[in-house]
Amino acid sequence: MPQIIDGKRISQEIKDELKEKVAALKEQGIEGTLAVIQVGNDPASSVYVNNKKKACEYIGIGSLAYELPEETTEEELLALIEKLNNDDKVNGILVQLPVPKHIDEEKIIKTISPEKDVDGFHPENVGNLVTGGKGFVSCTPAGIIQLLKRSNVTIEGKNCVVIGRSNIVGKPMALLMLRENATVTIAHSKTQNLKEICKQADILIVAIGKPRFITADYVKEGAVVIDVGIHREPKEVDGKVVSKLCGDVNYEEVAEHTSAITPVPGGVGPMTIAMLMNNCVEAMTRE
Ligand code: NAD
Repeated sequence: MPQIIDGKRISQEIKDELKEKVAALKEQGIEGTLAVIQVGNDPASSVYVNNKKKACEYIGIGSLAYELPEETTEEELLALIEKLNNDDKVNGILVQLPVPKHIDEEKIIKTISPEKDVDGFHPENVGNLVTGGKGFVSCTPAGIIQLLKRSNVTIEGKNCVVIGRSNIVGKPMALLMLRENATVTIAHSKTQNLKEICKQADILIVAIGKPRFITADYVKEGAVVIDVGIHREPKEVDGKVVSKLCGDVNYEEVAEHTSAITPVPGGVGPMTIAMLMNNCVEAMTRE
């Protein structure tokens, strides 16, 4: 039987640790505030923003929510970011992505002060990740490192295959595994012989964005499998169509061949917000 890596429990553990840290910082007179900016009213983004506000409340830091209309101009958004960059009470700034098409995402990311970039997307923070310097790390990959460590999975010396090379998951994930002394291969949409490459992995991290793509024939017997994908699938239950979550891994088929695996939901998903809170607490104490 594989170990089911419980992201719900581990994320709760992290949030409880942070709550204690925040209480201790408060006693020293250090308070924290995260500013969350949402442009437009995409329902999925609204859910994420709301969850972030709730997490701030839970660990005991403040949150400022800016809900801007869809037609907000790039100049207006940049001006708000600059204002928050210069506000000493705000230690973290986050712009919920994606932003509407008329706004240049890269420009937005670059305008957030690297010291307040709790998403870890600013090129200065990405650069620090590459060179081994201090800086904020993208939350989902940072959460996966915590899942592995807190589940007693050895990373050092292991063959790790990361499928996906996005700026928010695949690339920082590969760099973090390298930092933990794994031997890392990055696979992507142009990779040839994907199955053979995946079969070499002691730790297989899947961030492709395709439901149930990874089947048992991609997985070495006894490997650790981390599924980053999140998809909503319609499913019929008692004659009613309900929506069910699934990942990039065909869990039912793959799980029995692994030594440890993350489920969807309840695996990687809950870790992202926990690590965002971790970055917010770090932002409170950064020199
Ligand atoms: P993305 O679309 O930006 O990147 C997907 C990557 O997969 C690309 O680099 C591409 O080269 C690779 N790819 C696509 N098809 C492939 C194929 N057939 N073979 C090999 N590689 C292939 O996606 P993303 O933002 O990195 O997200 C990936 C998945 O993770 C999505 O399902 C997303 O919803 C999910 N996600 C989850 C969380 C979380 O908190 N759990 C956070 C971010 C993303």
